This record gives sequence, C-alpha cells and structure tokens, in this order.
Amino acid sequence: MKIKQVVALILAILAISFVFSIGKASAAESAKFDKLYCVNFATLANYPLDALLFGVGRGEKVNVPFQLCLAKSGNTVVALDSGFTNMEIGQKWGAKDYVDYKTAFAKVGIKPEDVNYVTIGHAHWDHAGGTGAFPNAKFIIQTRELEFAAGSMTQNKQAKAGFEPADILNLVKLNWEGRVILVDGDVQDVIPGLSVYLTPGHTAGTQTVCLETTKGRACYTSDAVYMYRNINEDIPLGFGLNLYQMVESYKKIRAAVGNGLLIPGHEPLLYSEPEKHGFKKIDDRTIAAVE
Ligand SMILES: [Zn+2]
Repeated sequence: MKIKQVVALILAILAISFVFSIGKASAAESAKFDKLYCVNFATLANYPLDALLFGVGRGEKVNVPFQLCLAKSGNTVVALDSGFTNMEIGQKWGAKDYVDYKTAFAKVGIKPEDVNYVTIGHAHWDHAGGTGAFPNAKFIIQTRELEFAAGSMTQNKQAKAGFEPADILNLVKLNWEGRVILVDGDVQDVIPGLSVYLTPGHTAGTQTVCLETTKGRACYTSDAVYMYRNINEDIPLGFGLNLYQMVESYKKIRAAVGNGLLIPGHEPLLYSEPEKHGFKKIDDRTIAAVE
C-alpha cells in the first residue's frame, strides 16, 4: 500500500469511529432521567439511634422515614424500592402516618400503574412489600438476594428478622411469571441509564442503584446506607447481616456515586432539610432531586 492509500484508510477509520461516537453520545443523552423524586409514605417514630448507628447515640431517639423514589426518562418510569403496602405488617414494626401510593405519587404526576420497572434494593418487608402496587412493572433484584431470601436465610433465626414470607413468595411467583430481571453483581445499563452495584452487608444481596440524570449521577442505596452518618463516618447499621461487609460496601458506594448525589434508605434529614442535601421540597413528604 502506498502512503496516500494508508493515510486515506486511517482517515476513513477515524471518520467512521467519529460517526459511531456521535451515535453513542446521543443514545446516552436520551437515556438520561429528567425527573427524580423521593416520597416519604410512612414513619417509624422514636426509634433508638444506637440501633441505626452501631454503638453511637445511646439513649437518643429518631423519627425514621419509610420512602421510595420515582424516576422518569422519556416514557420509562422507575421506582427505586417497592416500599410496603400492608399496614398490618407496618404496624407490627411501629410504622405510622401511612399514605397510600396513589395519593402520594399523584403529587408528582405518576400513577403506580405507570411504573415500568421497580428495583428491589433488598428483600426486607419495608422495601419488597409493595410489589403488588405495581401491576405493570418488572422487578430488578440481585440473584443472590432472591436465592438467599427464599433459601438458606429462612433457616437462620437472626438473619430472617426483617423478611416477610408473603413478600418473598410474591417475588418467587413474579419470577415464574417472567416479571423479574435477575442481576448478578455490578451491571451497567440494566435498562438505559440505570446501573446496579452489589453492596451487601445489610443483607446478602443488597444493591445500590445509580441513575444517569440530566443533573448528573444519583445513587439510591436502599439500606446499604441507612443514613448519611453511616457512610460519612464508616459506622455500620446497628443491625444487619455482616457489619464488616457493610463498611466494605461503603467504599464501593463512594466510588459509584463520585461527585453525584447519594440517597440513603432512611435519612430523616432528606425530609427535614432537603435543600441541604440536593433536593427541592415539594411538600413535607415529597422531595425532588431532578425535575
Ligand atoms: Zn429499610
């Protein structure tokens, strides 16, 4: 090949890769979430702080929100966690001030039946107990979380606290119906703009979910991070399967979030002072990170 031909070939390759990179960029652009809300649908009042921050705050009490988050990208609507809908079970755990999803979601113009995907951060009752509220959704859960919750976990009295048999049976049934997307470990773009990270410790297969939004990355940790102080001070939650693994997961979460927004599973400050934590207050129970 002559030099001219080689140069022409290189230019052609560069031109083709440039066209492909534009294609990729616009696909990523369209996959960005332009709405992200969190909704506090019930409260656990006067909970002992040292149960949430291992060995810290003995004697102090805190009001803990039960929440889930909602995100939208084009016609795709995602719920981060399913929360719980059975108030009898909620009351058993001390939950109060429950508001039903239809009413709670209406504030941000979303209906439960609009939701296409629900990520299950882990299978505890207050995160996996609301699957029935989303009739048109597929559920994204770590393989090991479902296997653990349906199998060996039930034979460990300590580990099984926090799981409700009905929730696990529902997930198993949904899986048989083809409505569960099982993920294994860290998976980028499970759906466009939504990646998951295996962040165990709280349970065997707790996952953190990161969304690419029009305002940057936002990661919802479910109970891998219960409150900001847990991750900021490397304090494990006072209860959980493996405290060592929990702190190891904080490292992975920090790397996954980068300069983005971290949304813990049960942080009261999100609702008492949302502006300080990257959110806009819509009302006492509803906050927006992107809208
Ligand atoms: Zn929880």
